[in-house]
Amino acid sequence: MSLFNNFSFAGKKALIRVDFNVPLNDAFEITDDNRMRATIPTITKILKEGGSVILMSHLGRPKDGPTEKYSLKHIVKHLSELLGGINVQFANDCIGAEATDKAAALKAGEVLLLENLRFYKEEEKGDIAFAEKLSKLGDVYVNDAFGTAHRAHASTAIIAQFFSKENRTFGLVMEGEVMSAEKVMHAAQKPFTAIIGGAKVSDKILIIENLLERATDIIIGGGMAYTFFKAQGGKIGKSIHEDDRMPLALEILAKAKAKGVNIHLPVDNVVADDFSNSANTKTCASGEIPDGWEGLDVGEKSREDFAKVILASKTILWNGPMGVFEMENFQAGTKAIAVAVAEATQNGAFSLVGGGDSVSAVNQFGFNDKVSYVSTGGGAMLEYFEGKILPGIAAIKG
Ligand code: AMP
Repeated sequence: MSLFNNFSFAGKKALIRVDFNVPLNDAFEITDDNRMRATIPTITKILKEGGSVILMSHLGRPKDGPTEKYSLKHIVKHLSELLGGINVQFANDCIGAEATDKAAALKAGEVLLLENLRFYKEEEKGDIAFAEKLSKLGDVYVNDAFGTAHRAHASTAIIAQFFSKENRTFGLVMEGEVMSAEKVMHAAQKPFTAIIGGAKVSDKILIIENLLERATDIIIGGGMAYTFFKAQGGKIGKSIHEDDRMPLALEILAKAKAKGVNIHLPVDNVVADDFSNSANTKTCASGEIPDGWEGLDVGEKSREDFAKVILASKTILWNGPMGVFEMENFQAGTKAIAVAVAEATQNGAFSLVGGGDSVSAVNQFGFNDKVSYVSTGGGAMLEYFEGKILPGIAAIKG
């Protein structure tokens, strides 16, 4: 495998797995084109070098084969606009005579988009014969769909075996994601602080366990903190918690102690008498939340403590908000983390924000260009940080 920029695409037909799984409204208009925009530099680079491009993607979750609602033909016009007006050809089927003929006739600088891969159940099943048919359309294989890298689907992983190591590579989106993730997981400069938040411990167990092997500090905030406080005998009022995960919370604390990893839980909380932005609020010490009240954000002292840890770090991984940041009155904790991560980054730390809601939070607060890297692959990034091998990465690296 060689780096994308060292790859020579001149005269080659590049078969690129992209993530054009964009939301469409009832009139089949794209309501968020970020995933399309992300991969434009990969496509443009290949075209500029004198290659041609065959794009393959899934769209939605079609259950019964070809369906109008999930046709990629709806995005052709917009793709053409994003590529500066280049004509984008379309094949009404991702395999078969039309796709084969159109791919064969492609000239340097031309673009062909194939119909939704998931119109074939073979795609998600990782069918080898289907993958081989797709592979015949291009000379080189480029995977630029990090969002599906954790799936062993025909077009994301299985197909790679039909291309020699010299003829397969990551696209720029995928390369950026993989390099950032590897930097944090395998080459982190210490102190390495992981900030883990969000609603439930159960969603984050594997990631915390993996981080216990790598991080020097783990900040735990958000709803998941209350399971830890209850497990330690604290009063949490009606805060969100998981009784069945209390033994696990204690186990995590014990493991961290044994390994010398510092766990930072909030010392105070913004509590509310209702799960609502207009609820009455006050600040309570952790473990002392009265009945009828629930913790919806970390308190001011916690924000200061967390910021100190973050500012002393050289590597930072952030996954999950510190509170119910969707409501204005409970977003100060998450915002304080964003500010501290931005400042640490400016001071030279490497910061990666990955996975669902923390990504929404940095975007919402306008901090996306103040951190080192914002991952677009929610599920894929989470699985990476859980220590799993992602089939889409492994298939390219071989
Ligand atoms: P996750 O997808 O696991 O990162 O969880 C994100 C969700 O957790 C967001 O929708 C937050 O509103 C929610 N959340 C964060 N803190 C709390 C809390 N203290 N109580 C209830 N929900 C929370």
